[in-house]
Amino acid sequence: MAYKLLIDGELTDSDLRLEVVNPATGKPWTSVPRASAMQAEVAIAAAKRAQPLWAARPIDERRKVLRALADRIETNGEAFARAMVQEQGKPLAEASLEVVHASGFLRAFAEMSLEAEVVQDDADYLIEVHHRPLGIVVGITPWNFPLLIASYKLAPALLLGNAFILKPAPTTPVSALMLAEAVADLVPPGIVNVLVDDNDLGALLSGHPDVQKVSFTGSTVTGRKVMAAAANTLKRLTLELGGNDAAIVLDDADVAKVAPGIFGGAFFNAGQVCIAVKRVYAHRSIYDALVEQLAALAREAVVGDGLEQGVTLGPLQNAQQYAKARHYIDVAQRDGAIVAGGGFPDGGGYFVEPTIVRDIAPDSPLVTEEQFAPILPVLPFDDLDSVVDQVNAGEYGLGGSIWSGDEARAFALAGRMTAGTTWINHHLHFAPHVPFPGAKQSGLGVEFGQEGLAEFSQTAVVSMARGKV
Ligand code: NAD
Repeated sequence: MAYKLLIDGELTDSDLRLEVVNPATGKPWTSVPRASAMQAEVAIAAAKRAQPLWAARPIDERRKVLRALADRIETNGEAFARAMVQEQGKPLAEASLEVVHASGFLRAFAEMSLEAEVVQDDADYLIEVHHRPLGIVVGITPWNFPLLIASYKLAPALLLGNAFILKPAPTTPVSALMLAEAVADLVPPGIVNVLVDDNDLGALLSGHPDVQKVSFTGSTVTGRKVMAAAANTLKRLTLELGGNDAAIVLDDADVAKVAPGIFGGAFFNAGQVCIAVKRVYAHRSIYDALVEQLAALAREAVVGDGLEQGVTLGPLQNAQQYAKARHYIDVAQRDGAIVAGGGFPDGGGYFVEPTIVRDIAPDSPLVTEEQFAPILPVLPFDDLDSVVDQVNAGEYGLGGSIWSGDEARAFALAGRMTAGTTWINHHLHFAPHVPFPGAKQSGLGVEFGQEGLAEFSQTAVVSMARGKV
């Protein structure tokens, strides 16, 4: 299949190419065109030309585009899912779920509105608050959910009348280029552009004077770079960054019921989820039982190529992430006790067994850093106050969960969490109508919900004095 960039309405090639490695084999799977800086400039110029006419169209036309794109993703769902397994590594069932979510977010945004609001209407003033398009929005995405994250940035940008430039992560460009092909003839030339890079165009795009907003999902380290590059022109920014979500399991939790939820929250997508459970604090009275249940689930997992039937855990996405995981296994051996997993299945791919680590020092890097890998530290606690302090320490504040049989007690505890989202008796849940913020250095701004939608617009006030002239 010949994948193409999308620039100014044309599905186009480039003199530059990029190899895409299948993480299940560690070998090149396909290659794609890579955009030059000149092509990025052409895309920005095209977006700038096209955007005002797009914004002038009735919003219903833009809603139709989002629905039509959702239809195409669904129609080609099998192809999207299989490509995602080969570029990203996740099991086919998870890739198929990502396709469902991508089209679902497109459809949900297609129904959303940001109406003008009258904030004063009396004898003295008529004052209205409007939401206008910003201009060009750049979406920069990571490699863990390549289709979903691209879709949920594209949808609000287009709905509100912006032009959109997508730059996927260099290790997962294929689903983005399939999205480019699906959207190409649905929008006027220049309204959607898709540029693959080799980690060399992000700075150009986020510093460009003709770009009004960057919606970025990725690591906190890169998020800081985006913020610095955007400072020159005071671009609008939404940054969804790293996390180190804790699951706190209270003494009244039913271990058999909570273990599968915690396990799923930690090991979905081989732990490569910003809001994955990355550390567990369990009350000492249920600690041994929970560790044993989590270890049993880890031993049951089937690690392998995501295209093989029955596989529940794929490889890590890239060589760098695999090296990081190997490092955290060393850390686990040094600072704690591995009770399940800890090995690296052969086969040339970036495979790591799901690993449960107990009795680990609370200040171990496996506990305080974001591992982004299927290696879960489980710590005992006696004193809830000190756990709350440990959970709230550190630079991250993305999400976290509380697991308890007493809902009122869990709700009260949720109020003490410094996190964008606190789940109770579940984890990982997010939806188009629910705001998704990051506290502290886990992010800036909000995605989804009315608040998230508003970040793709410029708030503009029209204030009229009555009877003065
Ligand atoms: P990354 O920061 O390495 O890369 C993200 C994107 O930034 C890629 O497209 C990359 O090419 C681009 N980039 C690289 N240098 C750039 C620069 N100087 N300017 C602009 N863009 C640049 O992140 P990753 O390794 O792909 O993803 C993993 C990280 O993402 C984890 O920390 C994870 O927690 C986080 N993440 C967060 C969320 C969230 O919603 N909070 C979701 C998924 C992943």
